[in-house]
Parts: sequence; C-alpha cells; structure tokens
Amino acid sequence: MLSVENVRKSFGGLPVLKGISLEVRQGEVLAVIGPSGSGKSTLLRCITQLERVDSGKITICGETLVSNNEQEKAVYADKQTRVKIGLHLGLVFQNFNLFPHFSVLRNVTEAPVRVLKKNKAEAERTARALLEKMGLADKADAYPCQLSGGQQQRVSIARALAMNPDILFFDEPTSALDPELTGEILKVIRELAAEHMTMVVVTHEMKFARDVADQVIFMDGGNIVEQGTASDVFGSTKEERTKAFLSRFN
Ligand code: ATP
Ligand code: MG
Repeated sequence: MLSVENVRKSFGGLPVLKGISLEVRQGEVLAVIGPSGSGKSTLLRCITQLERVDSGKITICGETLVSNNEQEKAVYADKQTRVKIGLHLGLVFQNFNLFPHFSVLRNVTEAPVRVLKKNKAEAERTARALLEKMGLADKADAYPCQLSGGQQQRVSIARALAMNPDILFFDEPTSALDPELTGEILKVIRELAAEHMTMVVVTHEMKFARDVADQVIFMDGGNIVEQGTASDVFGSTKEERTKAFLSRFN
C-alpha cells in the first residue's frame, strides 16, 4: 500500500530525514512517535508531497515517486503521477486547516467537486452522510468559527474521507485539543481503524498508539530508532532512547 525506501531530506544543509524506510500494508495503522524535532511531520509532508525528498523512493498504491540525488536536485515523477498519488491520500492536520469562509458542508464538498469533478448534489449527499457519521449532522450549515476544536477536527476528517482516500494521514490530530475533545477524535480514529482504513498517525497519545496501532515507529534525530508491533516498542524495548522517551509518559 505504502512503501518508503531510504528517504532523505535536508533543510538548508541540516539533515532532517536520514534514510527512512517503512512499509504500511492495506488496513494497517502505523503510529509514528518521537520527540519534537525528530522529523515526524517532515516525513508525513514528504509522503504526502507537500515537501520534496532529496533522495529515496516512495510508492503509494503502485505509483512511484522517484528521486535521484546524483543530480543534486530531486528528479520527480511526472506531474500526472503526483496528481494520482495525491488522490490516494487524505491528510488531517493538527490545526484543522478548514476554509474559514465556507460552511461545514462546503468544506467537505469543495475538493470532491473541484478536484474529482463530482456533481454538487452527489457530493452533498456524501458529505451529509460523512457529517452524520462524525456526529455533526446538525452542523452542516455552520461556519468553522462556530464549532469547538473537536468538532472542527471531525469536519476535517469528514473532508479527508470525502475524497475516498486509500490512506489517511494524521499529524498530531489531537494536540491542539483539551483532553475531553481529544477523546472524541481518538474515538473516530479507532472507529476508522475498526473499518480497516489504512492510516498513518503521528501522535503523542501513547495509550492510543499502543491500543490501535498495528505497527509503531519511534523516530529520533531524523532516524527510525525502533520499528515493530506496539507490544515490541512499548512492551519490551531494549533501546535506551525509546525507554527514555516513553518514561516521560508514565
Ligand atoms: P514536533 O513533534 O514538534 O511536531 P516533528 O518531529 O514533527 O516535531 P519536524 O517538524 O519534522 O519535527 O521538524 C524536524 C526538523 O526539521 C526540525 O529541526 C525543524 O526545525 C526542521 N524543519 C522542518 N520544516 C522545516 C522547513 N520548512 N525549513 C527549515 N527547517 C525545517
Ligand atoms: Mg510535527
């Protein structure tokens, strides 16, 4: 479903990803944990093409993005492939990133109508069903500023799902929320996991990662220090850096 091979990325000479490799199979949930500045968001941004890699290879649903560092500049697959890969992905950010001047309904229908060229009535039907699933049926006509953070985040999940993605990426989806609202969002992600949605979740919620993730990656300083099942990483890690990181959450 998703394969990342030896991906490297620097910003102005500072290496931020130092050769990252991972695989995510269909229906799997991968949790990415690690200290601030370890490169988690950069990894997500590279996979979702918000950022170009310097070298390495990323394959999503059989479409490959190649980069060749011998030529210094990234040599990328053609635009068509990038667009196709984009259509396989859904992305949910920490700060919701809703369109403030659009209603909740329009936030969810905008991309399906503009990008997928769906007809408006059909897009609205799908959007209303997704909003209902997120417990927001009565908020379709509200504006983002009229919603709580947890509600806004559920709209942004509905918006991502409206594109019918093959993989959903979350970058610290709960870190802007207080504990009660965090629970709301984690519940939605758990439900998606139960429906076998393939997901990559960057999170500081260790209990959630332990319960929901099939695979856990611990990053530090641009490297994957540890990679395994949740019980490998949380239960029986031998790595000092992982132990030190996890001890902060106990
Ligand atoms: P956090 O848990 O705080 O979100 P993170 O693991 O997501 O941290 P990244 O945001 O990926 O970390 O950042 C990794 C490193 O890359 C940091 O040193 C950061 O300053 C640097 N960095 C990230 N984006 C850029 C950029 N656009 N330009 C320059 N440096 C950047
Ligand atoms: Mg981050």
